[in-house]
Amino acid sequence: MKLLDGKKCAESLVGDIARKVAGYVASGLRKPHMTIILVGEHAPSESYVKSKIKSCENAGFDSALLRFPETITEAELLAKIEEINGDQSTDGLIVQLPLPKHINQQNIINAISPDKDIDGFHPTNFGRMTLGQKAFRPATAYGICKLLQFYEIPTRGKHCVVIGRSNIVGKPISIMLSNDFDIGNATVTLTHIETPRELLLDETRRADIVIVAVGIPGFVTEDMVREGVVLIDVGINRLEDGRIVGDVDFANVKNKCSWITPVPGGVGRMTVAALMINTLMAYQNNFHLS
Ligand code: NAP
Repeated sequence: MKLLDGKKCAESLVGDIARKVAGYVASGLRKPHMTIILVGEHAPSESYVKSKIKSCENAGFDSALLRFPETITEAELLAKIEEINGDQSTDGLIVQLPLPKHINQQNIINAISPDKDIDGFHPTNFGRMTLGQKAFRPATAYGICKLLQFYEIPTRGKHCVVIGRSNIVGKPISIMLSNDFDIGNATVTLTHIETPRELLLDETRRADIVIVAVGIPGFVTEDMVREGVVLIDVGINRLEDGRIVGDVDFANVKNKCSWITPVPGGVGRMTVAALMINTLMAYQNNFHLS
């Protein structure tokens, strides 16, 4: 078993970005700039935002964190997004999810300019990505692809099973891996809560690559996968004792895997790295750089 080390891969990717940015800045351009909107107080969101800001520092980006109280209205938030959409000094905008219940999340995502949508959640980017066009790709899915690429794990012609169909993880990774992308050309089965258990087991037991994003600790057990599987664990679950675990019963499954992501230190780190790649792309688009 070998670990797919998201920390190492992310550091390498962010190091490459920092070198490019240093070159741009040396030529007289401003730094890339990421703006993050955070609504209310939500401990996991605080920690995700912190790691994004830290990664911006490492990449040589400027960042701004805009905090709003839980009581902000949808109209007020939309007005703020509109303002940032028109601000030429911001390349990428993230609205940290989840949002309070009184705010319609999709309305907010739809309001972000597709040119600044570094999370890749806007229907324009999602549509372009689905059609195989240039787009900001959803960050977690893109991070998984970058991790597979870093460790030279082939996907072409492989059988990949994705468990979970959320718009932010399961759906985009299933589309990306089945598209004719560098990291793609796999035969993908997307499973979800309505997938009968026996069918799920049939699929996972013959898969070359299993990607799980359900948010249930220990969901993938040893009997569900075959020897030599590549296992990508997207889950981030906080246990009552404070530990953070993924969706895989790591201790018992790991020895069956050829490669496996740890939690923490796997996909989470790659999500942030992919956001840096997307922000650099937004910046390059703004300045017509290649
Ligand atoms: P989500 O929106 O709750 O979606 C979970 C998906 O799992 C749904 O599609 C659901 O099916 C499916 N599901 C639930 N129970 C299932 C079962 N028994 N069998 C098969 N499918 C089942 O979650 P998410 O946003 O994708 O997040 C999933 C996990 O990844 C969470 O732990 C989250 O914290 C983590 N996450 C990590 C990162 C990262 O950077 N590492 C990024 C995002 C999310 P239905 O659609 O039918 O309900």
